[in-house]
Amino acid sequence: MKPAAADSGVRFRRIDLGGLEVPAAIAHVGDINYATGLMRDAVKVDTVEHLLSALVSLGIDNVIVELNSPEVPIMDGSAAPFVYLIHEAGVKRLAAPRRYLKILRPISLARGDKRIAIYPSDHFKVSYSIAFDHPLLRHQSRTIRLSEEAFVDDIAPARTFTFLKEVEMLRQRGLALGGSLENAIVLGDTGILNHALRFDDEFVRHKILDVIGDMALIGLPVIGHLVAHRGGHALHTAFAAQVMEERDAWEVVEAPVRAATDAVTLPVKGIVRATE
Ligand SMILES: [Zn+2]
Repeated sequence: MKPAAADSGVRFRRIDLGGLEVPAAIAHVGDINYATGLMRDAVKVDTVEHLLSALVSLGIDNVIVELNSPEVPIMDGSAAPFVYLIHEAGVKRLAAPRRYLKILRPISLARGDKRIAIYPSDHFKVSYSIAFDHPLLRHQSRTIRLSEEAFVDDIAPARTFTFLKEVEMLRQRGLALGGSLENAIVLGDTGILNHALRFDDEFVRHKILDVIGDMALIGLPVIGHLVAHRGGHALHTAFAAQVMEERDAWEVVEAPVRAATDAVTLPVKGIVRATE
């Protein structure tokens, strides 16, 4: 991650392709499978959502993300390693106002029993609920009012999850070969195959992490109460596009410019350094 000028946004730069860039923007959403991908012309960047979630939650609006491959490293399946690195590097406050997209009236989208909506609120809040046909995941729900601290403590460490059946299916198709028990919680028919959970409701917390990252493709942090049930990347990104289209449902507001100063580095709980 490299510094970028005010109003330049988040840009992924493929140094293995001579520095071609893909902006983190809803207009460039590409393949959505188990992760959110971006594409501009023939240039692809996959699995952007966990990094984008960390960036928007830590107040980073402008950054160049250099990659030497088509995929953002999955790390441990959470956003905690990205938070750690950002805090290690520090964040510079630019002499430009931070702009937000403030929701003025409700917007909603439903596909079958999957639903997502956003309502006016003075803060960015997320309420998420999930239900799976699995003994450990029948129902989980959580509401969180986002701040940097809340994200770092309660959301960033939550890891992605997958079902053993799906892993086996993918392997048969020659996919997910790099996937392992190190970068996702893997659910068997009756239990978890790896590690202890970091939270009792780690699964729904990870869905909150995902939707924050997908909504970051709007390009401005959102002020509103997002409510989602059984969503996934396809629903999240379709909704982000719909929010941008419904221009009478929001306004752009500016936060006052504060004195330029380096951000204070916060301690990060429960994170060990990834590979040196
Ligand atoms: Zn995820």
